[in-house]
Amino acid sequence: MKEIKLFINGNFKTSEQSFISENPASGEPVAKVYLPSKQDIDEAVDAAETAFYSTEWKNMDKMKRAEILEKISEKIKERRNELTELEVSDSGSCLRKAKADVHNAASYFKVLAGQLRKFEFELKDEGASRAGFSQNYKVFEPVGVCAQIIPWNFPLVMAAWKIGPVIAAGCTTVIKTAQETPVTASILAEILSECGLPKGVVNIITGGAKEGEYLLKNPKIRKVAFTGSTSVGKKIMQSAGVNLQKISLELGGKSPNIVLSDADLSIAVDGTLYAFLYHSGQACDSGTRLLVDEKIYPAFKDAIVKRIKDVKVGLPQDPNTGYGPVVNKKQFDTIMNYIEISKKEGAKLLYGGLRATGGDLDKGHYIMPTLFEVTPDHTIFNEEIFGPVLAITTFKTEEEAIKLANKSIYGLAGAVWSKNPEHAKKIARQLETGTVWINEYHLLNPGMPFGGYKQSGIGREMGEEGLKSYLEVKHLWVSDCDERSKKSWFDAIF
Ligand code: NAD
Repeated sequence: MKEIKLFINGNFKTSEQSFISENPASGEPVAKVYLPSKQDIDEAVDAAETAFYSTEWKNMDKMKRAEILEKISEKIKERRNELTELEVSDSGSCLRKAKADVHNAASYFKVLAGQLRKFEFELKDEGASRAGFSQNYKVFEPVGVCAQIIPWNFPLVMAAWKIGPVIAAGCTTVIKTAQETPVTASILAEILSECGLPKGVVNIITGGAKEGEYLLKNPKIRKVAFTGSTSVGKKIMQSAGVNLQKISLELGGKSPNIVLSDADLSIAVDGTLYAFLYHSGQACDSGTRLLVDEKIYPAFKDAIVKRIKDVKVGLPQDPNTGYGPVVNKKQFDTIMNYIEISKKEGAKLLYGGLRATGGDLDKGHYIMPTLFEVTPDHTIFNEEIFGPVLAITTFKTEEEAIKLANKSIYGLAGAVWSKNPEHAKKIARQLETGTVWINEYHLLNPGMPFGGYKQSGIGREMGEEGLKSYLEVKHLWVSDCDERSKKSWFDAIF
């Protein structure tokens, strides 16, 4: 069985405590995983701090760092089959999704390398400068030692989004993977150690809430970057307040998906299914609140209820599978509980609502794709479920659709479906969310920012905004006046 060790100061090491990571599809063991002790966590932070102040890292110019990012991208591609296979067995991601994840992780490092080469770490502001008085510069500098915590749904991609900007900015980090899915980040650790990254720049550990809390309390941590649920995000924000650590939060969502009366139904129906069923609904940006113009709702409803029967729930390793199991029994129970709540509240079940069974499916935690007709006060219209469940409601006017879409504590993503993109853009601009797709869903561009409004988060990942969130900005004032007689302001104190 594979052994997943701690990656601290460039070394792979074991520890006293370990556990077995299981395949969500079969319950079979995937790897023996070592949990860090408090001393291991402290050692990882110390290594990150030493690396941050090392001349090797401090003096490494951006072109060399970009080269390292590009090498990482290449090595991910070289090991794509192994990474895909492990992501499937460790996280229950279906083959198609795992392949896309590996591709996306590699392409993120590559795009970031390109952004880094162009990024100006020192910028003269001509507008703020005046000849004979001052020259003014903005200087971007790494924040310092970071602590990063990621969830279990996109293990490799989440690790890439965290580690990439740390390297690009010249920071250092201790990243904690989710205990449910620790395997692929450890392959990434092997890749990092082969790409010329100085030891201690990136340290990778795993663990649960206990390890995460302990890591964040370390006073050497200057920035916390967390991806996970909104409830844990709130706790993390409180803990970051103690030492006023910089913070980025990528949190939960309940994203609205609006189908206008002029939408192309052949695209919108499939897009809607993809929006909420991708990775069994365990994506933060899932389109789980569907708002359909009542004029087209009868036709839309017929079409979606017919089409949902074609969705392939199956074994993750089967190349034809559309989505596989949910990550574990706890997540399965949470989803089934939401289905029960919806039934009790009087939501109308249009399809699914049951465990998916038969053959090998009986060994894992599979759930049928589920459609409910709801009213906006129903629980599943408002709370994040993180499962293959869609809450559908209708609207009379576009103003009503926008109001319903924005009536949420979340603001991560959303979509508008219409044959008139200019009109759809007007609606998109009124949605209080970090991403809006028009006639599209889930696609992300590594050169563009991703993150949430409202309780879906603080800050952005990817794009220039993502890189800047790992940088401090310094105002550098250079006097352009070298004659004492002209420095009349000095006289104010004499
Ligand atoms: P979670 O909040 O339970 O856990 C996320 C991570 O935080 C895990 O590594 C966990 O071990 C750690 N953790 C838990 N409690 C902690 C604590 N008190 N202190 C420090 N660390 C702690 O979330 P999850 O169940 O792993 O993931 C699902 C959630 O993540 C969903 O809400 C989803 O929307 C969100 N998510 C958001 C994004 C995004 O980019 N916005 C991406 C993926 C997932």
